[in-house]
Amino acid sequence: MSETSPKLRAELDGIPTYRPGRPAAAGGPVAFKLSSNENPYPPLPGVMETAVAAAGDFNRYPDMACTGLMNELADRFGVPVTHLATGTGSVGVAQQLLQITSGPGDEVVYPWRSFEAYPIITRISGATSVPVALTSEDVHDLDAMADAVTDRTRLVFVCNPNNPTGTVVHRQELERFLDRVPSDVLVVLDEAYREFIRDPGVPDGLEIYRARPNVAVLRTFSKAYGLAGLRIGFAVAHEPVAAALRKTAVPFGVSQVAQDAAVASLRAEDELLGRVGALVAERTRVCGALRKQGWTVPPTEANFVWLRLGERAAEFAAACEAAGVVVRPFPGEGVRVTIGEYEANDVFLHAAEAFRRGR
Ligand code: PMP
Repeated sequence: MSETSPKLRAELDGIPTYRPGRPAAAGGPVAFKLSSNENPYPPLPGVMETAVAAAGDFNRYPDMACTGLMNELADRFGVPVTHLATGTGSVGVAQQLLQITSGPGDEVVYPWRSFEAYPIITRISGATSVPVALTSEDVHDLDAMADAVTDRTRLVFVCNPNNPTGTVVHRQELERFLDRVPSDVLVVLDEAYREFIRDPGVPDGLEIYRARPNVAVLRTFSKAYGLAGLRIGFAVAHEPVAAALRKTAVPFGVSQVAQDAAVASLRAEDELLGRVGALVAERTRVCGALRKQGWTVPPTEANFVWLRLGERAAEFAAACEAAGVVVRPFPGEGVRVTIGEYEANDVFLHAAEAFRRGR
C-alpha cells in the first residue's frame, strides 16, 4: 500500500479552522457565555412547539425549496420570492456568495478586523484576500476599500454593524462608496445584527439593494430571532445572484425544524423584537457603566461591545473567565463582549472594573 495521502487543494494550506467562541467551563465559578453574540433568551414556547412538531418527521428530507419560509420572507420584507435564497446560517450563504463569484486569480475585498469567516471562506474559494484596515475609530474605511477594488475584484464585504467592533457605516458614505464600485462587482451587505441598530443614519440594506443589482443583503435568524443552533440565514439579491445561490445550495441543507421555526419566529416577531429592545437597553447600560469606569468604548449598534485592549486582551479575557464570564479575546487587538442577560452583564461589569483598578 502506498504511503502518500490524497492530493488536497494547495489553497487549503495554512487556512485556520473557524474558531467558535468558547463555551462557559463546566464546573467553573459561574457559567455565563458572552463569547458568541448569541441571544441569551430561551426559545419562545410557541416556536419550540413548532420545532418539536417538525422534528417528528425527521425521517423525511426537508422541503428543499424552503417554500413556506420563502413566501413568508417575501411577504415580510416586500421582495419577490425570486430574490431570496436560504442557507445553513448566513455564513453558509456567504460561502455560496464566494462560490458563485470568486475563484483563483480573483480578489475579495473586506474590512479588517471584521467577521473572521471572511478570510477563511475567501481562501477556501481559492480567491485572494484583500483586507482593508478599519480607521483609527474602528469604522470601515470605505474610501480605502473603494481604492482597493481592481479589475480582479469580484466581491466586497461590508459588515454593518461590524463584528467585532459594533461600529456602523451611514447612508451617504455607503451610497458614495457604492457609486465608486463597478457594477459587475458584487457588494455583500452583511447585516447579521441589523435588528439591534437604533441609529437612524444607518440605511436598511434592503432599500439599497432595490436600486442596485450588484448588492446582496445577508441576514440571519441566529441573533435577534434566537435560532443560532438551527443554522438558518438568507440573502436578498436580484434574480441572477439569488438564482445562482439557489443553484449552489447544499441539497436539503436547511432542516425542516429550522424552516418551521423561522416561520414561527417571523410570526412572533413583535415578541422577539421586544427582547431585542431589552438587549439594546442593556447595551446602553453596559456602555454607560464601562465609560464611567474609564474605558473607551466605540459606539456599538450590535449586541456586543468592543474593548481595544491591545496586548492585554488575553489577560483581560482570563480575568473575566476567572470572574465567571467567558468573553472573546482577539489577541493583540481587543476583546468582544456579547450583551447578555442582566446578571451576566453585571458579572462582566464587575470584572471589567476590577481589571481597571488592577485588582
Ligand atoms: N455575519 C456576521 C457579521 C456574523 O457575526 C456572523 C456570526 N457570528 C455571521 C454572519 C454568521 O451567522 P450565522 O451563520 O449564524 O447566520
